[in-house]
Amino acid sequence: MHDFLLAKEIIDELKKIAVEKKIENIKKVSLGIGLISLAHDGHSEHTEDVSMENLEFGLKNISKNTPFENTEFEIKKTAGNSWKIISVKI
Ligand SMILES: [Zn+2]
Repeated sequence: MHDFLLAKEIIDELKKIAVEKKIENIKKVSLGIGLISLAHDGHSEHTEDVSMENLEFGLKNISKNTPFENTEFEIKKTAGNSWKIISVKI
């Protein structure tokens, strides 16, 4: 569940970055993914390990019909309780 919610959060963040930096296309994004705490579906915030396969699948789906449709996502597992964008290649 967190994988798909996270995918949406990542695409939203990329949209923000694209607007701020006036970027039209992003070739490649490297992401570091730790444990993700979220509140959803009436549950209070809890932590879950994220499936990298589901996250990749979610990113592909959510980026359809957005400027990131052809963006390559490189996903690395990292320690910690959050996710971050490691690098953006335009
Ligand atoms: Zn959950």
